Amino acid sequence: MAITPLPQSDAVPERPIKILLVEDERALREALADALTSEGFVVAQAESGASGLAAFRAAPPDLILLDLMLPEMGGIEVCRSIRSSSRVPIIMVTAKASESDRISGLDLGADDYVTKPFSSRELIARIRAVLRRAEADPSPAAQGARRLRVGEAEVDLEGQRVLRDGTVVHLKPKAFQLLAFLIENTGRVYTREQLLDKVWGYDYAGETRTVDVHMHALRQAMEAIPAEPVALQTVRGIGYVLRRPA
Ligand code: CA
Repeated sequence: MAITPLPQSDAVPERPIKILLVEDERALREALADALTSEGFVVAQAESGASGLAAFRAAPPDLILLDLMLPEMGGIEVCRSIRSSSRVPIIMVTAKASESDRISGLDLGADDYVTKPFSSRELIARIRAVLRRAEADPSPAAQGARRLRVGEAEVDLEGQRVLRDGTVVHLKPKAFQLLAFLIENTGRVYTREQLLDKVWGYDYAGETRTVDVHMHALRQAMEAIPAEPVALQTVRGIGYVLRRPA
């Protein structure tokens, strides 16, 4: 039996694509917003890294256009922070081609880079290409879900659980909190004292050995070879860091 495709009705508009534009130069930001709006995108604007991050959290967009050079919280920091929880497509905007080379080496997980000056035509072509690639990737992470891979395990941040080979791994609540903190701060090195303060709280009178015990449990749960961790790494003489592939 032949399958008849459902008729496509012109009366049902496609959901508009929402772009978050983080750019501190007002004239450029407004010109870009106009160009994107006239292409049918819905545009949210932010003029700083912090307000961009807040806008991302308040209403996750379909794509983020992120300027590298922003006052205070720069584009690199914003990109890292977003990538700790989301695979939303990000296009970084840089002032020099050499910057694109440098930041692409930083493993930030941006999907593409454009170098100023660029035409709005070029930018829109890049945006459409990145959106097509994101749509072709059906992984839940690509849909912006709060699920991500650490080592051999998958972390479900919303469900506060860790799965390995599809099975829930038992972790103490503090171990999960430690993991969630390190995920939120991927790539940042913390001392044991700092982790005690951040995860257990300033009033906690425990020893730094507590951190080691919980880190050991996380490695057992998540690493292929716990003694040779690829994600939950020790930084000799300093403390711990979570590293994740882009
Ligand atoms: Ca700028």
